[in-house]
Amino acid sequence: MIIILRPDTDKTEAAYAKLMKYLQDLPNIAIRLHDEKGDEQTLTEIYLVGNTMPLASDEIEAYEVVDRVVRVSREYRILGRHKDDDRDTHFEYNGVRFGQDNLQIFAGLCAVDNLAHVEMMMKALQESGLQCTRMGAYKPRTSPYSFQGHGQECLPYVFELAGKYCIKVVSMEITHDAHIEEIHKALESAGNPTGVMLQIGTRNTQNFELLKSVGRQNQFPVLLKRGFGITLEESLNAAEYLASEGNRNVIFCLRGMKTNYGDPHRNLVDFSHVPAVKTMTRMPVCIDPSHSVGSRNMSPDNIMDIFHSTAQGVIAGANMILVDFHPRPEKALVDGPQALKMDELAWFLDDIQIAREAYLKRCELQKQLAKVS
Ligand code: PEP
Ligand code: MN
Repeated sequence: MIIILRPDTDKTEAAYAKLMKYLQDLPNIAIRLHDEKGDEQTLTEIYLVGNTMPLASDEIEAYEVVDRVVRVSREYRILGRHKDDDRDTHFEYNGVRFGQDNLQIFAGLCAVDNLAHVEMMMKALQESGLQCTRMGAYKPRTSPYSFQGHGQECLPYVFELAGKYCIKVVSMEITHDAHIEEIHKALESAGNPTGVMLQIGTRNTQNFELLKSVGRQNQFPVLLKRGFGITLEESLNAAEYLASEGNRNVIFCLRGMKTNYGDPHRNLVDFSHVPAVKTMTRMPVCIDPSHSVGSRNMSPDNIMDIFHSTAQGVIAGANMILVDFHPRPEKALVDGPQALKMDELAWFLDDIQIAREAYLKRCELQKQLAKVS
């Protein structure tokens, strides 16, 4: 059960103490407090953990400081969507809005290789009016002999260039909790010219200690990739780990499932789960067509499979796109075969626009039909 207090409730006032006294006297119920600090107000939520079935919502709602009570099902207590649950389905970070109702595009390098390529990418993004990117510094690789990413060495120029080209959020995978501090320090040394979204890769979806560390910090939002060989429920529980430690600014990313049934794609594209995740949780949903499809294959209509899959996710309501580009894919140190080229960026964006407009039209049609019936 979640008790949502009136905005800006003062924890020193008697009415608050009265509620807390009532809650603390409840047998076998643990209490957890969470403050959600927004620009305009602070919302306090009180989580009651234990057998809350015998508790009457209206009795609790009668307390002066209580705004409303939400009964949660056992699944995904914090990030889930529950009955009569009108909590937010969006958050803002560094001036960029992430929500179940909008769409952000993160085009960029799978792995940072050199300064020149980072600059070419950032410049192209700015020219296209984009404000987010992906830049891999820490790369988890199947072979220990493959390029592992430049790590913290490349952070100063990545952040500085992001600032120079007005990029507000850089999505970057981390594979160890020490990377959080490295990123924090590099941002600070550069004068915080940009923001970072911490990416948890598919190989780490169930690295619970990493999830806990990332969940304990609130400086950076998190992009959690779906585990490629586990159930959707298990991956959603991984997201809930982040929230249960305190960080609710989580985006869930579909990136395909590892199975030969997806051939000839690198992974079985799972973007039909976009609406399913939006139904089960309040998280914005990201799609990663590059790692799902894994190649620049083109179908007979002269449209690349990556474009087709992106459109399929967007027309189903996806809220974020993570996509690999590279100025010279043949020279890329990681995932070159799936990278789009710089002169394909405008085409890609136009194609997304068509799919997004179609999605919005579909929502509008549904609204009209609901009015009539
Ligand atoms: C990536 O986005 O660079 C990546 C390695 O993705 P995934 O964890 O989905 O394989
Ligand atoms: Mn990759």
